[in-house]
Amino acid sequence: MPMERDRYSRQILFRPIGREGQSKLAQSRVAIVGMGALGTVSASHLVRAGVGYVRLIDRDVVEESNLQRQSLYLEADALQHRPKAEAAAQILREANSEVVIEPIVDDLHATNAEWLLSDVDVIVDGTDNFQVRYLMNDISVKHGIPWSYGGAVSSHGVTAFFRPEQTPCFVCLFGSDASMPGHDTCDTVGVISPVVSMIASLQTADVLKYLTGNEARIANRATHLDVWANDYYHTELGQPREDCPCCKHHQYRALDAKSGAMAVSLCGRATVQVRPDHPVAIDMEAFARRLAAFGKVNFNGHILRCELDGATLTLFQDGRALVHGTSEPAVARMLYARYVGM
Ligand SMILES: [Zn+2]
Repeated sequence: MPMERDRYSRQILFRPIGREGQSKLAQSRVAIVGMGALGTVSASHLVRAGVGYVRLIDRDVVEESNLQRQSLYLEADALQHRPKAEAAAQILREANSEVVIEPIVDDLHATNAEWLLSDVDVIVDGTDNFQVRYLMNDISVKHGIPWSYGGAVSSHGVTAFFRPEQTPCFVCLFGSDASMPGHDTCDTVGVISPVVSMIASLQTADVLKYLTGNEARIANRATHLDVWANDYYHTELGQPREDCPCCKHHQYRALDAKSGAMAVSLCGRATVQVRPDHPVAIDMEAFARRLAAFGKVNFNGHILRCELDGATLTLFQDGRALVHGTSEPAVARMLYARYVGM
């Protein structure tokens, strides 16, 4: 007990949180979707703050180019191509062993979103993906769970805290299809670390307000900032739209969509993800031996990387694969079909 008091003493001294707020945090559950730059900063804040349970969801592995801003990862994680969710979980457990941390190495899609997000108190957006944001929004509205939206690219970013029935939802603000092929991404125009930390910190502040019973302190507006242009401003969120198909008519288009797509291009980074229609269990060791006949294979017990036909294939146990070295879904599908099988 003295340890616990000491650990959180400065946060408990902060009156709006106090002992009561701290105890609420300990009983709270949060899911963070995407453990890139935003997700790692949010996770670090929330785990250190003493949120009782934190689920980390990410489908990707650590790469060298992540280290500049994804603050929980080390060079060894990039060298070993460790799954981000697992690498983050390990370091966060060392930072606060009192928190239950559950890493999920998978992407969020229509068939698992409800299972992964409907049993938490708040959802935190750490993605750079509009399709996934629509899924989070659908879950948020359907299950009455707020979500903290954040996005950062280049030197600018935006954040807002969406609360079902109190604020507009993502569909109210952006319509039903805001996925914008060709829009700026961190992989095409870059991103600097300070803007990421600021956006994730603002996201976390709202999460802490919500979880500690200080919901009235959450502004009904989006915060925009550009750390290079020294530009900081707000836009009012206003009221939910009367004709919103999601939060007024309860049509959950993202959630109801069939996840039939066999290949999804990860825009702008010469990587395509291929996912089978149904999860499968691959015998990875046997597979590593088989692929060794075709190219250089690296198998670390969880994931298998193999260089094939000028591309690199990263295969996960559930049959999902990342094909690096192409941005053509058809090429990725072909490589997958040739070496993994469909
Ligand atoms: Zn709405």
